[in-house]
Amino acid sequence: MNAEQIRFRGTVQGVGFRPTVARIARAHGLPGHVRNDGEGVTVVIGGEAAAREDFLRALLRELPPLAKIDAIERSPCDGVEGAEFIIERSQQGSARTAVAPDAALCPDCSAEIRDPFARRYRYPFATCTRCGPRFTIITAVPYDRASTTMRGFVMCEDCRREFEDEADRRYHAQPIACGRCGPAARLVRTDGAPVVSASLSMLDDVDAVKALLQRGEIVAIKGLGGYQLCCDAASEAAVAELRARKRRPHKPFALLAWDVDQVRRYCAVSESEARALSSPAGPIVLLRASGERLAPSVAPGQRTLGFMLPSTPIHALILRQLGRPIVCTSGNLTEEPQCVDDDDAVERLSGIADWALVHDRPIAHGIDDSVVREMDGEIRVLRRARGYAPAPIRLHPSFAEAPPLLALGGHLKATFCLLRGSSAVLSPHVGDLDEPRTVCAYERSLRTLMALLDHSPARLALDAHPGYRTREIARSLGELPTERIWHHHAHAAAVLAEHGLPADAPPVLALVLDGLGMGEDGALWGCEVLVCDFLRAQRLASLPSVEMPGGDRCAREPWRSAVAHLVRALGWEAVESVPALSGRHTPALDLALRTAPRASSAGRLFDAVAAVLGLHTSGVSYEAQAALALEAAVDEGSAEPGYPVSLAFGASLSPLWSAVLTDLAAGLPASVIAARLHEGLALALADAARAARERRPEITTVVLSGGVWQNDVLLRRTLRHLRADGWSVLLPREVPPNDGGLSLGQAAIAAARALSQDVRLG
Ligand code: ZN
Ligand code: ZN
Ligand code: FE
Repeated sequence: MNAEQIRFRGTVQGVGFRPTVARIARAHGLPGHVRNDGEGVTVVIGGEAAAREDFLRALLRELPPLAKIDAIERSPCDGVEGAEFIIERSQQGSARTAVAPDAALCPDCSAEIRDPFARRYRYPFATCTRCGPRFTIITAVPYDRASTTMRGFVMCEDCRREFEDEADRRYHAQPIACGRCGPAARLVRTDGAPVVSASLSMLDDVDAVKALLQRGEIVAIKGLGGYQLCCDAASEAAVAELRARKRRPHKPFALLAWDVDQVRRYCAVSESEARALSSPAGPIVLLRASGERLAPSVAPGQRTLGFMLPSTPIHALILRQLGRPIVCTSGNLTEEPQCVDDDDAVERLSGIADWALVHDRPIAHGIDDSVVREMDGEIRVLRRARGYAPAPIRLHPSFAEAPPLLALGGHLKATFCLLRGSSAVLSPHVGDLDEPRTVCAYERSLRTLMALLDHSPARLALDAHPGYRTREIARSLGELPTERIWHHHAHAAAVLAEHGLPADAPPVLALVLDGLGMGEDGALWGCEVLVCDFLRAQRLASLPSVEMPGGDRCAREPWRSAVAHLVRALGWEAVESVPALSGRHTPALDLALRTAPRASSAGRLFDAVAAVLGLHTSGVSYEAQAALALEAAVDEGSAEPGYPVSLAFGASLSPLWSAVLTDLAAGLPASVIAARLHEGLALALADAARAARERRPEITTVVLSGGVWQNDVLLRRTLRHLRADGWSVLLPREVPPNDGGLSLGQAAIAAARALSQDVRLG
């Protein structure tokens, strides 16, 4: 044979893959062709076998930055016509190719919009094959201009020439545009009044936004995946006004800076954090604040700041000359999904921003900014959205024969997961399903991704909790075989799945810590030591179950958890002895305690200790605020001994609470009590792991999962103890440790169960 077909699967469309193939094939003097189709990219290439090997090696070495190859399939074919290597037009086909995530402004385009002699000087929609919108503008696959929201813009001659020039950075860059032919940005007033400028003919709308921000105004800006709300991060008045109008009193705001050097004025930035900031994904990176201060209202009570760099030319043009960062937070009222549609945005945001920078390139799919943090030496995704989703996550090849699946995720930080073979597409972060608008956004996202990926599930995977909104969503999908999965098993399985463990991998130990989820027999769990594989989970130890008077209100009112914990551990006198809890003992509470559901929740234990210390005792305005305050109270490098905590079944938390109250009465500061709690829980987890090893000595791997592991203080201490005991530890990386990662775990469990049924039946 002197020709073969090579199929590339993965993120290979819309990323400059074909021109790279053509360039390298021509450099090797090999004839053939390359084309996009519904399955990815197909190359037919002639020439000697050795030359073809050289070609493939060179290609893999010189992949374009946004390309990600999941699989290569090679097969012999009949030879090629002619002696040239050509790029063929796209073929329609069943959609099995990955949809590329959006990519932040690249250095070349960033330089170009600043070059007064370049054609795209100050053009807010400059993009190339290395950057720009992908997922947010795609309406169908294969990815071609006609299948994007750019289809309404007819390329001018110059753009057309670049688009067709294989040597150009914009060769087949589908969103290609310039000031003559492409979208335009426009500054509007959200009250509908005309924008009046003194020099009527020459308003540079983007420049005007910079001036407005300098004046302390709040401006809504249409970003890649939706509207964002921006204001001067150095102006306390502006930031406080944004908080009041957005009805978001405390939850930290994200910041946008011009470059890494500017971020370093306010935060310590490690090498890998700097790389994450400037990566094509362009996430918000949580960094340790140090150096100059911004407005105190940016992130009240936090030791970290979340920074990102410009994701589009619009952001770059605004930031370039501002000389300081701006607040850049998602454009919504608290708890609602981000605004995407222009009319809707201007109307809904009119009470928050007086000005909006809009434009006429429609957003096909809304998507929030992603959040990452360096923990235990690696960048870890805490919110998976713009720049990451919907790139597939590769599972172990042993999942290849699993039926197509849909896993619906959890109730908070909801995501869903479409699993086909060993490729799992985790949806972008949607939000909390308490809010009807968020449920609509979830259903819309589900419909569009299923259509885009041509996915029709044969099975569903659901959380075991009957009260989650995902139950109703599942019913609306019709009668499908459904797996109901314990919340904490799914948390653990998500980590196993992203680390590429096979479907029949042997059991591991899992320490799953979070707020709340449903486990065996309808019990509410939240601090569990499990032995599990993909098929099943067994609980070996746990925090004791404690009442949650008022149910869900406990998560918003930490004093409730404090009272419940103290009454259970030490009785009512203990509650009376805590100044922060005075006056909380009422007959209504007595009744609530007697009828309350109980849960073994790590999140509620942190809330309880925070409340006793007077940290957000009466209420929080966002999830885990009290626990975060407790984490922030711990001094770095503190070597306090741990409080006595045991996770053995039947153990009591009385020793812990006696110690806390003794320290409180002795006037020890919150920093010491918080440090002792973190260390106590870390030691208890390591103890529980040791006890598990006595029963199951063959297990040497431990998985950490659940939202509580976003607590870096607890993570560091627990890891130190576990590693000293010789455990090999698996942590979430690409997938959030919190409920945002649940759907991947559910999908992997349901797939493994379906596969093992096949084995049993066969
Ligand atoms: Zn670019
Ligand atoms: Zn043009
Ligand atoms: Fe959870």
